[in-house]
Amino acid sequence: MKENKKHFETEAIRTQSETTQFSEHSVPLYLTSGFVFDDAEEMRASFAEEKQRDLYSRYSNPNVNEFVDKVCLMEGAEAGFAFASGMAAVFSTFATLLNAGDHVVSCSSVFGATHGLFTKYFPKWNIECSYFNINEVEDIESLIKPNTKFIYAETPTNPGVDVLDLEALSIICKKHNLLLVIDNCFATPYLQNPIKFGADLVIHSATKLMDGQGRVLGGVTVGKKELIREIYLFSRLTGPSMSPFNAWVLSKSLETLAIRVDKHCENALKLATYLESHPKVKWVKYPFLKSHPKYDIAKKQMRLGGNIVAFEVEGGIEAGRTFLDAIKMCSLSANLGDTRTIVTHPASTTHAKVEPEVKAAAGISDGMVRVSVGLEHVDDIIKDLKQALD
Ligand SMILES: *Cc1c(COP(=O)(O)O)cnc(C)c1O
Repeated sequence: MKENKKHFETEAIRTQSETTQFSEHSVPLYLTSGFVFDDAEEMRASFAEEKQRDLYSRYSNPNVNEFVDKVCLMEGAEAGFAFASGMAAVFSTFATLLNAGDHVVSCSSVFGATHGLFTKYFPKWNIECSYFNINEVEDIESLIKPNTKFIYAETPTNPGVDVLDLEALSIICKKHNLLLVIDNCFATPYLQNPIKFGADLVIHSATKLMDGQGRVLGGVTVGKKELIREIYLFSRLTGPSMSPFNAWVLSKSLETLAIRVDKHCENALKLATYLESHPKVKWVKYPFLKSHPKYDIAKKQMRLGGNIVAFEVEGGIEAGRTFLDAIKMCSLSANLGDTRTIVTHPASTTHAKVEPEVKAAAGISDGMVRVSVGLEHVDDIIKDLKQALD
């Protein structure tokens, strides 16, 4: 099998659904809710899973299968299931793995909606969550209980761009017989493959760099076959599946993931390096800057540093707000991983109502700005941020 394995870019382009009788070059869009059977026996065998085929698009669909196959190849995963959004992937994965009375250990800096699941909905199902601080990974073991099911983390984190050591997390999980579930959205499968470092399941919001152009929502969970089988059974019953249209768009996007992400990372490193030299910037965080506290770990587990840069403007909340208002070209938006550079100031916008301790735990300081570096010419991105800082 090894010699059949192609390079990342080639797999992304050459993994395709079977050609139809029309000999099309580009994969068609299979907008169909159902599929037909030759006779009662074929239908019986298909529903009994004696025959592998598409039955109904809540279960599977050729476009969705192609998208999932690509992500599996990219992540080195055995199987996967695609969802309508990243949060559908996160929720369905949790709902499949957890029973009432279970316990989860999670990094405190996780995506806002994921944190909302832990705090608003887990209690009603009697599921408990304990948090470890990004800088106190040595605390994790003291949080583990007899009913702990998995450790959950994102790396690099949002919005603080901190880096967690995947191998170290995996060693703890193996020792305590826990699953390791990683949201790999910020890195994309091109930059980082958590399964290589011991993760059991990897989740992506495909809405971000996978789409890369701010058009469609999507999510995917990949990993161990037997776990994905459970996630599939839960999902085909509950209906969070990805639409064929979004899968078609996303599978096309994956063809250019490597070349796009290379350029995103090149621009982000240039911007981060520039910001480090600006007198109004207190600090800059970017995984591939030597000044990043986890630079060595980032180098070990990531191909490049990603497209998110965080920095602190001198002057706290007011300065952050003034900076945001002075931005001319870049977009103020909650999305990230777009061709367009997006700037946010969490303390005065998305996290304005969040308690100070929660903000601190999530790695958000008063003057912190998060930039999702896009694909405009880097000189124009730098120029816009420079004039806003000045
Ligand atoms: C955006 C995001 C999600 C949620 O994805 P949606 O597609 O918006 O539902 C989950 N995790 C991370 C890290 C994200 O950035």
